[in-house]
Amino acid sequence: MYTKEIAVGAVIALATFLFWKGIDLLPFLFLAAFVGAILYFNSMRTGGKSFTAPSKDNKVSLVRLDDIGGQDMAKNELREALEFIRDVETIKKLGIRPLKGILLNGPPGTGKTLLAKAAAHYTDSVFLTASGSEFVEMYVGVGAQRIRKLFNQAKSLAKQQGKQNAVIFIDEIEVLGGKRGEANSHIEHEQTLNELLVQMDGLSSDEMVRVLIIAATNRPDMLDAALLRPGRFDRQVKVDLPDKKGRLQILLLHTKNKPLAEDVCLEDIAGDTMGFSGAHLESLTNEAAILALRESKEKISSDHLRSAIDKVIMGEKLDRLPSLQEKQRIAVHEIGHALLSEITTPGSVATINVASRSNALGYVRQTQENDTYLYTIDQLKAKIAVALAGAVAEEITLGNRSTGASNDFKQATDLAKQIIYGGMSTLGIVSVENVPSELLHSTMSAILKDVESYVHNTLITYHPTAAQILAVLLNKESLTGDEFRKMLPMN
Ligand code: ADP
Repeated sequence: MYTKEIAVGAVIALATFLFWKGIDLLPFLFLAAFVGAILYFNSMRTGGKSFTAPSKDNKVSLVRLDDIGGQDMAKNELREALEFIRDVETIKKLGIRPLKGILLNGPPGTGKTLLAKAAAHYTDSVFLTASGSEFVEMYVGVGAQRIRKLFNQAKSLAKQQGKQNAVIFIDEIEVLGGKRGEANSHIEHEQTLNELLVQMDGLSSDEMVRVLIIAATNRPDMLDAALLRPGRFDRQVKVDLPDKKGRLQILLLHTKNKPLAEDVCLEDIAGDTMGFSGAHLESLTNEAAILALRESKEKISSDHLRSAIDKVIMGEKLDRLPSLQEKQRIAVHEIGHALLSEITTPGSVATINVASRSNALGYVRQTQENDTYLYTIDQLKAKIAVALAGAVAEEITLGNRSTGASNDFKQATDLAKQIIYGGMSTLGIVSVENVPSELLHSTMSAILKDVESYVHNTLITYHPTAAQILAVLLNKESLTGDEFRKMLPMN
């Protein structure tokens, strides 16, 4: 266990003894440094690196498919694929070739690593993990050596632990498996990828240890076609951002060990967190617990969870405060967004906040009853109206606009493009590549101008209400959707 320490101690003791005896140690020191350098470079060259292989009794074996919220489709597809590994005898009888690779494809934080770990548990396999970037080296041949080492390590670990299966998880496979022959590809990269292909082709169901490669990527388009060829990663499982039901399940999983107050409705939180990944939701529950701790509360309340949503989206509150004038402008701007949001989609404002955080000076968070994947032209125009309302409100109340709206404009122009490319503009159905840029620009401007004048007329009629809300918001810094709605004339 302490062999390294004992060896170093012994060498130091010997050197001291020889020095005391009056023997000149300088030549020996040079020799030792020389040998050390050779060993070091050799280990670099041969990929002297071990891959993370969590031990038998660690967390890996504890991740089950049931511990992963949402992702029902991905879990079913994965389970189906893994049956091939669990039921080897039947598979052999039917002459089916073994499954060698599964590619998990989806944005970060959606549970791909968890799925790979759960797959290892489901098939009673040892689990090894590596990232694509660990194979990228300057020296030709090192990456390929590392691939060989990874496969050998998986097999020997399985033997050691008396298991018949091994799962190797390679995260960010696009780094190692990018297309060959392109500008950024070079000989070392090609050798590494070739080695992976060779190793995968060499896997057979007759071996003592069957190895399954699970790879994760967010960019399947970047992968070399050879990797996706049948017999390699021929199963692709899509791991998408969770929908509302999925988010609720993930929230339930991550609040299992946390005391929640009676006022907490996780379903509402799931509704308010469209676009959140599993990792965001985990961080949200954790932040909420930290907020409860800071306030010395024993239970996590609904307010804690809502503040945590804001924190996860917008970052920590800033100490640097904007001037009073700036704060007033921020508030006017946000009230503009909130008014249009409420007018176009009643009940849609979740919070208005003007306490500056690291990612935004102020913001309006909208809630959504159901996840929406398709939008009509009216819905898109309503979204454009909400985006433009901040700048228009500044103009009406303060007489001019500011740079604070540049993000809003980007969002508005993107939405206008969606209208055009969706064939819903005056241009009719168009091909994305062939719309002349001037025509695109003029059509986009027409859509934006049209919505802008609607927003202007609407906000003028709400001007007195906006002034009242402004006073309250500046005082309280944050308003919940319900508080905001109570101040509107229609309620
Ligand atoms: P990925 O590999 O897709 O980037 P991970 O699997 O590493 O994401 O997820 C990171 C963390 O996010 C997990 O440790 C877990 O706490 C949480 N998480 C992500 N997706 C889920 C999910 N579907 N169910 C439960 N927790 C999740």
